[in-house]
Amino acid sequence: MRWAGGLMLLSGTSTQALAGVTDDPAALLDEWAALTGGDPSRPWVRRFAEDGASQVHDWLQDLGLDLSLTDARDPGASALRVHVPDGGGPALAEALLAAGDPADILLETEVVGLIFTESGRCVGVAVQDAAGAGWLRAGAVILATGGFSRDLDRVAWANPELPLDKLAFAGAPWTDGKGHGLLEAAGAAWQNPRAMGIYAHGVADPRAPGEELTVAHLDAAMWVNRDGRRFFGENHAGSFAAGPALLRQPEQQGWALVDDALWNRMGLVDAMPLEAEPVPHLPDLVDAGRVLEAEDPAALALALLMDHRAITGEIDAWNVAFDEDAPDRLRGSPPPAALSAGPWRALPLQAALSKSFGGIAVEVDGRVVDAAGAPLPGLFAAGELTGMAGGSLVGDRGFTGSLSAVLLSGRVAGDRAAAEALD
Ligand SMILES: Cc1cc2nc3c(=O)[nH]c(=O)nc-3n(C[C@H](O)[C@H](O)[C@H](O)COP(=O)(O)OP(=O)(O)OC[C@H]3O[C@@H](n4cnc5c(N)ncnc54)[C@H](O)[C@@H]3O)c2cc1C
Repeated sequence: MRWAGGLMLLSGTSTQALAGVTDDPAALLDEWAALTGGDPSRPWVRRFAEDGASQVHDWLQDLGLDLSLTDARDPGASALRVHVPDGGGPALAEALLAAGDPADILLETEVVGLIFTESGRCVGVAVQDAAGAGWLRAGAVILATGGFSRDLDRVAWANPELPLDKLAFAGAPWTDGKGHGLLEAAGAAWQNPRAMGIYAHGVADPRAPGEELTVAHLDAAMWVNRDGRRFFGENHAGSFAAGPALLRQPEQQGWALVDDALWNRMGLVDAMPLEAEPVPHLPDLVDAGRVLEAEDPAALALALLMDHRAITGEIDAWNVAFDEDAPDRLRGSPPPAALSAGPWRALPLQAALSKSFGGIAVEVDGRVVDAAGAPLPGLFAAGELTGMAGGSLVGDRGFTGSLSAVLLSGRVAGDRAAAEALD
């Protein structure tokens, strides 16, 4: 959370009303299937749509956070719904820490096992820290260890069609699925594990193959596939529609084409902001052979072994839409700038596993359930471990701003666990 931008999808909030945005949970539920492939009649989807404003938005305001609306929206969304706190993910994390008692928080302490009574009730956790192994007794246990996008064995099991050799990572380093393993061993069921959030808004980091490097303004570039054809509305570069779209292209390849003016406006942003190494400059990517350069689009097409007529045709159509302020075929709105003067560059788009939208199955009150739907006594789960909330929010597509679902599922599980906790 501390590394996150802090984007949160919420509907029917006072922040939306103040900004003049007309929206309510019913509108969100109406378009949920089109946005995510999810089933709006599922209890967790309804709860997320209906309770997000009071349980997340208003609660965060009560904790002192200042929320505003961003212009991020997934393809097809009818309203601006993605909120961000002033200070982003770090501010969210600070607000949560400030709301708790620091004495109750053990850092650098890894949960390595769950402890059960003979009757099968979870009553604590086995832990490991620098001093050694130990255990903590608890009236109830809520696991919230994050996603599993770096656990490639599980990713392959969950979604055998994914071409793992074409994917980098964009999730946090600890999204290793160990928490899932603990719950699996305890008998927990999975929900919709194949729902992975796959980004495509960056190029591979030359310093660390397998890591993702995000590139600002890639949404202003023109994306083409191996045939030299545009294949995606680039204004949705940051959405979870982009990764699957890239993976559907011939040889699962695509490039972002930029002219010199756009190239000079681009900056690079590390996917992992706490990375110790400095961010490489764009020319370093050229030096590393990741970016191809040419004087004109036809030469660039030649270097990429593409049909130059396709590329020049796409650029002409792009510029006509820009000149005439006309809706672009894929973006829906006119391109933000004409593509004109060289040198031209092609950046290879990199698909990256970023979020788990499926996970451990939990009841709508956060209780972990087995394959028969029976709750495992004393055991709760929340956050990305549960596919953000309940493992069944989405169908085959993620959505922008799932931190709101993470927070809601944590609050829900906390309420119920507190009510059920043993003395
Ligand atoms: C760079 C970046 C930017 C992002 N931006 C956004 C954004 O703007 N909006 C959005 O919705 N999402 C964003 N995300 C994703 C978002 O951060 C996660 O989905 C979200 O933080 C998940 O929350 P969580 O509490 O479930 O898990 P996490 O935030 O991943 O926290 C899990 C915690 O559990 C700890 N842990 C793991 N295993 C154990 C163990 N065995 N014992 C003890 N502790 C353990 C980890 O150290 C970590 O502190 C971003 C992610 C990254 C990496």
